[in-house]
Amino acid sequence: MNRPLLNRRLDGLGNTIFGVMSARAVATNSINLGQGFPDVDGPPLVAKAAADAVLAGQGNQYPPATGVPELRQAVAGHQRRCYGLDYDPDAEVLITAGATEAIAAAVLALVEPGDEVIAFEPYYDSYVANIAMAGGTRVPLTLKAPDFRPDLARLESLITGKTRLLLLNSPHNPTGMVLTRAETEQIARIAIDHDLLVITDEAYEHLTFDVEHVPLATVDGMRGRLVSIGSAGKTFSFTGWKVGWATATPDLISAVRTTKQFLTYVSGGPFQYAVARAFDLPDSYYTDMAADLKAKRDLMAAGLREIGFGVYQPDGTYFITADIAPLGERDAMEFCRTLPDRAGVVAIPSSVFYDDHPDEGATLVRFAFCKRPEVLKEALGRLSALVR
Ligand code: GLN
Repeated sequence: MNRPLLNRRLDGLGNTIFGVMSARAVATNSINLGQGFPDVDGPPLVAKAAADAVLAGQGNQYPPATGVPELRQAVAGHQRRCYGLDYDPDAEVLITAGATEAIAAAVLALVEPGDEVIAFEPYYDSYVANIAMAGGTRVPLTLKAPDFRPDLARLESLITGKTRLLLLNSPHNPTGMVLTRAETEQIARIAIDHDLLVITDEAYEHLTFDVEHVPLATVDGMRGRLVSIGSAGKTFSFTGWKVGWATATPDLISAVRTTKQFLTYVSGGPFQYAVARAFDLPDSYYTDMAADLKAKRDLMAAGLREIGFGVYQPDGTYFITADIAPLGERDAMEFCRTLPDRAGVVAIPSSVFYDDHPDEGATLVRFAFCKRPEVLKEALGRLSALVR
């Protein structure tokens, strides 16, 4: 067998950096500020709803292919309550195995071999994999320090006759950039003028700090060309449950469901009932969570700055980007590889997300700050030993 085992489209994808770094954290007993997951679970009443669902026999057998009706109704209710958007829970909402599956199913459904897909670079790693699986060609709109804002004139100039899809993410992982209303409207105008489809990964929609999250779906003319994606893992702090959703017109949902049914078919039955209950939480749940994370962001930003990192303060997500160049370091991958042994802390080299312009991210590192304040303080203490 001369051929490599892994199909050529996936060549070089290897193991996701999140899994690699979490394994390093466990092996070295380090504080894990790498993979983005909170160290405090979501609301106990939601956890109890999951346990109750299992014991009551709700969702222990295959749920419906599109998700349990209670959760589809709850997602539709959330879109209405938060954004004034009306979706039919039966035809326009699809429950998935996390936002990750929703993105994969949408890309595989909408992209033909040879199609070009424009996405923000640094890319969340699964986008690169999904575009490759579909046989598409990724086209980077590179976000650069210090503010990581997209150059929308450049976006328009990247569009060719082969461009099929904009795969967007705001609040953006890893940079924490949040598209403004004006940028969102301009992107909508570009998508409409060039007749493009759009997928928006809005996993961090509620994690913004003093800026608003403006769903692209709220802009006139977008509904027929847009798949919007959300995440219970990120919104309710149950990342292991892997419950996500897509909202779109019936045609688009039907296309995404076609691929989704052959990926997992369905998943997480009892968790779907629990997440439906989570959507009953009052508005204060969301505002408290954002306020709590904002304080943690400020703690990390100040602490990292004091140590000597360059700090790019995020407007959203629970990630902060730091530049190691001021510390005399040149290679984020090498820095993160050795950081567990040097300091007992794990971080993610953002450089790995700059697949097409590695120089732009060579010295950028991502720290997750969705951890208890004492854990963040301990991590900062350990990091300060690096410069002592
Ligand atoms: N979204 C999480 C992050 O960016 C990781 C999820 C995963 O490991 N696939 O850290």
